Parts: sequence; C-alpha cells; structure tokens
Amino acid sequence: MKILILNAGSSSLKYQLLDMESKQLLAKGLVERIAIEGGRIKQTVGDQVFDATAFMKDHTEGIQWMLKALTDPQKGAVKSMDEIVAVGHRVLHGGERFTGSVLVTEDVKDAIRENIPLGPLHNPANLMGIEACERVMPTTPNVAVFDTAFHQTMPKKAYLYGVPMEYYKKLHVRRYGFHGTSHRYVSKRACEFLGLDRANSRIITCHLGNGSSLAAVVNGKCVDTSMGITPLEGVLMGTRSGNLDPAVVQYIANNENLSVDAVLDLLNKKSGLLGVSGLSSDMRDIDDACDHGHEGAIIAREILVHGIRKYIGAYAAAMNGVDAIVFTAGIGENNHTLRALVMEGFEFLGAKLDPEKNMTRNEAVISTDDSKVKIVVIPTNEELVIANDTVAIIEGRPIED
Ligand code: AMP
Repeated sequence: MKILILNAGSSSLKYQLLDMESKQLLAKGLVERIAIEGGRIKQTVGDQVFDATAFMKDHTEGIQWMLKALTDPQKGAVKSMDEIVAVGHRVLHGGERFTGSVLVTEDVKDAIRENIPLGPLHNPANLMGIEACERVMPTTPNVAVFDTAFHQTMPKKAYLYGVPMEYYKKLHVRRYGFHGTSHRYVSKRACEFLGLDRANSRIITCHLGNGSSLAAVVNGKCVDTSMGITPLEGVLMGTRSGNLDPAVVQYIANNENLSVDAVLDLLNKKSGLLGVSGLSSDMRDIDDACDHGHEGAIIAREILVHGIRKYIGAYAAAMNGVDAIVFTAGIGENNHTLRALVMEGFEFLGAKLDPEKNMTRNEAVISTDDSKVKIVVIPTNEELVIANDTVAIIEGRPIED
C-alpha cells in the first residue's frame, strides 16, 4: 500500500511516497515557487533525480506536476496515480477541536478554515494542499494530521495564560503547542528503545531544529510544551526569539515607529540565532563561528543552551522527576556539542552524559551506564506517523497513540 505524505506551504509542496508494507521511502520531492517566477520541481527516487522548471499558477498545478514526477516512466515511483491509496496531510493548527488525526470532510475543512486566525501562515496553505489533491485525485481519500493534536492532553494549568478568562473563552487564547507529531513519535519510540513501561513513564522530549520545542510527557500523554498560541514561544530558534516580556513588542513598536505586526514579523523572522549572532540562523554556522571566537555566535548559543536547560529543569519539577531526556530533529540528532552543553552538570538530577556515546547521530543511548535518567537520541519520523495514522483511518482502525 502506497501512501503520499504532503506538507503544503504557501508556495511549496514537500512530499514523500511511502510503501507501508516495507515502510520504505519510495520517493521524496519538493515543488517550490508556486505562483512565482522560477517554479521548480525536484524529486529523488533511489538515485534517479527528476528536476524540472515550470510556472505553476496555483497549488492544483503544483500537485499536477508532483503527479507527473511520481508517474514519470523513467524517474518516477509509480505507474499510475491510482497506486496512491491515500494522502496524509500535515496541518499546522487544529485548535481545540482536533485531538487526533481525521479523515478530511467538508466539516473538517471548515474547521481548518476556522483556525486560520490561529495559524495564519500555515493553515491556508495546508487547506490549499488538501483542496488541490481533491481536485486532481478526486477518488483518493485525504487525512489531516495536526501539529497541535498531541498537546491537547495538557491540563488547564499548563495551557492557560494568565490573561482575563474572557480572552480564552472568546478568542481561544491559550497554549496549543506544535511539533506534536514529532513529540508523540519520539516519546513513544524512546520507551520502546529503552524498554521503559510507557504507562509509567516521565519523558522530556527536546525537538531542536530550525524551530524548536520541548515537551513533558507523562505516561504517553503530553502535560506541557514550550510553544504557545503560535510557534514563537519557548526557546531561542533559528530566526524566532522564543520567550520574552510582551512589553518588548510595545517598546520596540513605539521607539522604532513600527506596527505590532511588523514587530511580530521581526520576532519571527529576524531574531533567534540569526538576530543575536548577526550571522546565521543555521546552528552549523553558529558552531563554526563559536570555534573562531565570534562574540555574537557565542552569546546566541549560550542563550539557546540556557533556555533548553531551564525547560528541562522546569519539566522535571512539573513531572516530579524524569526517566528519560530525548534529543531529536536537525540539531538534537546531529549536534553533539549542543547536547553536551545542555546536559552539563545535570548529575544533580540523575542525568549524566557519556561523552563518547554522545558522538552519535543515530538512535542511541548517550548517558552513562550508571545514569539514573536515560539520555537518548531518537531521530524523528513525522512522515511515518502521518502515514500510519492515514492507513489506520482509511482502514477504519483506531489510531495508535
Ligand atoms: P530541522 O529544522 O530539523 O531541519 O533542523 C535544522 C537545524 O539543524 C539547523 O540549525 C542545522 O544546523 C541543524 N542540522 C541539520 N542537519 C544537520 C547535520 N547533518 N549536522 C549538523 N547540524 C545539522
């Protein structure tokens, strides 16, 4: 059974085709610059690369190009689009309605639309991806998998902000959290890998990539997470500021004669590692610059490390202890330097990093044998979760949590 996984952005479509019997990746591609000059589609199937340029006026034409690439006689992965049994869509914001993945219906699309104010950049694009698939593949079912769903188990004390209750009731102002598919996958996989009883476990998951978030997971359920009503809250990120006093917004707006929207844009796109270092949003560049004594890079990395350490401490306190700390995503999986800096001096918590084991980029325990708290690297696999949920839904089976 072949399942297509689609992550639709405002001008791009990232996709993977998975074979569900072998769990093998059959094709991976990116359609970019939709509705912009210089549109391009690049797909890899084994060592075959399909690379083409075309103007695509909308997402529907983007999906048509994707199918052209997937069914290409030489460089494609399937003979006909009928081989694709279903499409699993990554959708950013499910608000409070979606606690799990669902089959897309008109009602579900309406709900995704209703959540546009909460996810103004992503939800419209996700919806365009879904509607384009409906147009081009009218008989293929679509499943929506929400980035927020895993975090819906948080208790009120973790998801409510300290603002007048009317804003929660009227405007749904609360913490939602993101990267839920990743936190769900790695927290579960960590229990399997470590032989922990999931029903009796306390895990801190650190998803550290261009966007970063941490989650506290008790007995398989999320009880807190660092991102908020939008992905801006939490630790320092590639270009996002993470936590700050909201008065900073007003202060910059007044002093620089900027609108609130312009300051938010600055906090989302020009801050974080990029803004603090004045150099790059990419952690590899930051590490290189730190090695060469670049002051901006050094302080940017220190802010990031300090922020992650504070969340680990906070979540250990919130869960009355911790059994495992999981590192995942681009930085969490690949950057041993950052992991070492984060875990420095955590012996008081019972977590001791093994410097040699820490040199890995693969699924591995990186704590010492006598460390009470296990520290692990678990490569994330959001696509597999999306594909598994999609199959369960179209077969009418309950979704594995
Ligand atoms: P992500 O958003 O998960 O793709 O992660 C992007 C971040 O991970 C960037 O800051 C990269 O520096 C870092 N990263 C991704 N891949 C690698 C790698 N192979 N080695 C070191 N860092 C990496």
